[in-house]
Amino acid sequence: MAKITIPAANIEFDCTNDTIMRAATRIGLGFPYECNVGECGNCRFELIEGEVSYLRANPPGVTERDVQRKRYLGCQALPQGDCTIKVSLRDHYKSKFLPKKTTGELIEAFDVTHDIREFRFRLSENAKFIAGQYGLITAPRVEGARAYSMCNTGEDGAEWHFQIRRVPNGAATTSLFDNLKVGDKVGLDGAYGMAYLREDAPRDILCLAGGSGLSPMVAISRAAAKSPALKDRNIHFIYGGRTPRDVCGEQFLKELEGYGTRIHYIGAISMPDDPSSAGWTGKVGFVHDIAEQVFGEKLGGMEVYFAGPPLMSQAVMKTLIKSKVPAAQMHFDQFY
Ligand SMILES: Cc1cc2nc3c(=O)[nH]c(=O)nc-3n(C[C@H](O)[C@H](O)[C@H](O)COP(=O)(O)OP(=O)(O)OC[C@H]3O[C@@H](n4cnc5c(N)ncnc54)[C@H](O)[C@@H]3O)c2cc1C
Repeated sequence: MAKITIPAANIEFDCTNDTIMRAATRIGLGFPYECNVGECGNCRFELIEGEVSYLRANPPGVTERDVQRKRYLGCQALPQGDCTIKVSLRDHYKSKFLPKKTTGELIEAFDVTHDIREFRFRLSENAKFIAGQYGLITAPRVEGARAYSMCNTGEDGAEWHFQIRRVPNGAATTSLFDNLKVGDKVGLDGAYGMAYLREDAPRDILCLAGGSGLSPMVAISRAAAKSPALKDRNIHFIYGGRTPRDVCGEQFLKELEGYGTRIHYIGAISMPDDPSSAGWTGKVGFVHDIAEQVFGEKLGGMEVYFAGPPLMSQAVMKTLIKSKVPAAQMHFDQFY
């Protein structure tokens, strides 16, 4: 067991078989982070004293400068004894439900599209979450955990459901899609993430998703649809795919009370000239452009949640900034 000290905050905590950021988050500290897989670098801290190794060898988020300045990634740093560190804790990163490690048994899996499948796990111990958050899945025979957002709502935390897009030759997705059978178990850890539904925000909701970003936007819509605090708010969902066979999500919204009156869906494709797009009568364009076309100046008055591939998130962010959406009304966890 290692003791981690943060002198500026007058805090000391134990870290056993865990990374420094995750151990801090498990006891309710607001340790900064985002992706949890060593990519984004948001969880950087300075090592004042002690030694750490990395869970994932050479995490991509580490820069030359980090090495020179003895800065490490909290989500991957394993203490090799007692450590003293410097990091600015912020309330924004505190978890409502403290993340924990559990095991998930696959109870059901079904295809959503040609490359997205929903996997439903029953947890060995309930772990609650807020809609929009993600968990870490350790798939059988895969090195390292991957982040996946839940698509269900987590009031009791008995089951976690994930809508996962298959990545060609991806280690975790190949294991999950090709090898995992009902009754098999995976390691789960969570919940993590800050892109969760804000029930105290009295604004119409806009969910923007593309590709792998479906899951958290479905969760946000489901939770918002049944939230008494948001009962007078509209929920708009825009999903973008390349061609019609990618477009999905409406089937989940249709199950919600208020679909067609206060819950609205738009599907869009970005490759109208592809032969498989023949006959498409819906919108054409990228989700950020569609959002701008449809909502224009109204965007500034909306609570906007978005998820998807990095290029999509960057384009959405640019559009929202241009449309003067305040930063506090934008919610996303960058996918990698
Ligand atoms: C916050 C967040 C939420 C996400 N939510 C979803 C979702 O809801 N649905 C969805 O389909 N995808 C989601 N993703 C993407 C997902 O985590 C994977 O990146 C994707 O499924 C590809 O994984 P793979 O192993 O198949 O591909 P690979 O190409 O084998 O792996 C790529 C990913 O794994 C990470 N990685 C590689 N090696 C290691 C290691 N040793 N330890 C830890 N990480 C490693 C990389 O950083 C990269 O993220 C999310 C990602 C993030 C960061």
